[in-house]
Amino acid sequence: MTIGILALQGDYEKHQQMIASMGIQTRLVLTQQDLSACSGLIIPGGESTTLTKLMIKHNLWDDIRAFGKDNPIFGTCAGLIVLANKVTSNHVEPLGLIDITVNRNAYGRQIDSFIDTVDLLWNTDSKESYEGFFIRAPKIMSCGPNVQILATHNNEPVMAEQGNILVATFHPELTNDTRIHQYFVQKIN
Ligand code: GLN
Repeated sequence: MTIGILALQGDYEKHQQMIASMGIQTRLVLTQQDLSACSGLIIPGGESTTLTKLMIKHNLWDDIRAFGKDNPIFGTCAGLIVLANKVTSNHVEPLGLIDITVNRNAYGRQIDSFIDTVDLLWNTDSKESYEGFFIRAPKIMSCGPNVQILATHNNEPVMAEQGNILVATFHPELTNDTRIHQYFVQKIN
């Protein structure tokens, strides 16, 4: 298995280090050729407007959209924004792969970034929590009927999935806790 990490912009190296620490092969994705060698893709945090422009410039926008119909994609923060159906900002051309509406920079400016406990909902038998790094994070304002909420912060959804697509408004790659990346790897398996 090779997991691709979109390396146009943002903190892709942190995702690469985390996946590599799990003993899984990674490939930095800059071209269609890179993408076609992968069985899953991570779209990192960064700046969603820049990310959109670079995806279009590198002719990857359509390819990533097509890839996500058949293969798992995990988007964190800006990665979540570009995967959404709808973004309340006209500077982003989202891929429309997950039925959520997203508000960018919903917690405020860079100085309003924070670390706080996130409640994981994927295990109904026991309570699990996770340390969420929210960096100029977006908010999921609404979810379609086929979207499953996997984590909340203050009872608001912060991680969700629909079919192949997994998204988080925070940055699990900035912790040493691999549980969320493991969950993504299971989706590929
Ligand atoms: N605020 C950024 C955006 O709108 C996302 C921030 C992040 O990825 N940490 O694209």
